[in-house]
Amino acid sequence: MNAKTPSILLIYTGGTIGMIQNSETGALESFRFDKLIENVPELKRFNYKIDSYQFSTPIDSSDIEPKAWAKLVKIINDNYDKYDGFVILHGTDTMAYTASALSFMLENLSKPVILTGSQLPIGTLRTDGKENLITAIEIAAAQKADGTPVVPEVCIFFESHLLRGNRTTKINAENFNAFRSYNYPSLATAGINIKYEYDKIAPVDPSKPLIPHYTYDTNVIVLTLFPGIQENIIRNILYTPGLRAVVLKTYGAGNAPQKPSFIKLLKDAIERGIIIVNVSQCLTGTVQMRLYETGLRLLDAGVISGYDSTVECLLTKLMFLLGRYESPDEVARGMSMPLAGEFTPNSEA
Ligand code: ASP
Repeated sequence: MNAKTPSILLIYTGGTIGMIQNSETGALESFRFDKLIENVPELKRFNYKIDSYQFSTPIDSSDIEPKAWAKLVKIINDNYDKYDGFVILHGTDTMAYTASALSFMLENLSKPVILTGSQLPIGTLRTDGKENLITAIEIAAAQKADGTPVVPEVCIFFESHLLRGNRTTKINAENFNAFRSYNYPSLATAGINIKYEYDKIAPVDPSKPLIPHYTYDTNVIVLTLFPGIQENIIRNILYTPGLRAVVLKTYGAGNAPQKPSFIKLLKDAIERGIIIVNVSQCLTGTVQMRLYETGLRLLDAGVISGYDSTVECLLTKLMFLLGRYESPDEVARGMSMPLAGEFTPNSEA
């Protein structure tokens, strides 16, 4: 039984949650993190040890680049033994990308890493930031009777739902309820109590040491199909110098035009070592390339399944694997197995 006071490291990267209105221009600007604590005096009422770390220049999350993910990995790795959990305050716009990337870059994670943010600055009266922050901290500190963390995963907490980070997508630019995980249930729901779905939370082996990963390769692109898309444009994309992987957003259960010239373009690219991953434009459901002739052609060409992954997850997983492996076969192998609960395998892929 571990009776010690939970300790949490709060990492402020930037985003609306820590912003204040400039009285002259009316624009939202970042303010110092100590002001954030000032605006949430409730934090002092927690019986936890809460330390904070602020990015020297807070970043609007639209400006986030993978080097910020590597920085977060380093902060967490450097402080891993000192804290029971980590809460990352992050802009909502690209939070799903950061959460996905961290789920791969923090191998063998066995402590909570909870990302949250807000739609309204924490200094405003109707802010959603306070509740998000307070509940995220409570979740990061939650421990089972044996002292192990309840949620040893990278998650996003937003507006009462705790979601697996690499399953989330931002779906709303206005409402407080801005994130969804369409293909995996919530890990917890915060109402009067925080109700954890224990059987949905991934089991971990705390005896395995955390392995931080810092490398990535951003030679990836998303290609969304639409009726009328021109082959010369697809060709140009597939011949982009340095390109190593494509997330192909297809129709329905992973279907694409059957035109031989189009299929040949994909097949040629795959033969040149480019990984092409199939993901549906539908938000719910999974890729099943054996279901229709139009999917089967892609499978025959060597396109691999993204199953029910999000686009954010596929892009960051590709960057992660391409950073680790030179060989397209190794990358393809990595894409075909879940590394952090990011997709639901099915035999129909
Ligand atoms: N543009 C802001 C950001 O993503 C929006 C937000 O924080 O919600 O950093």
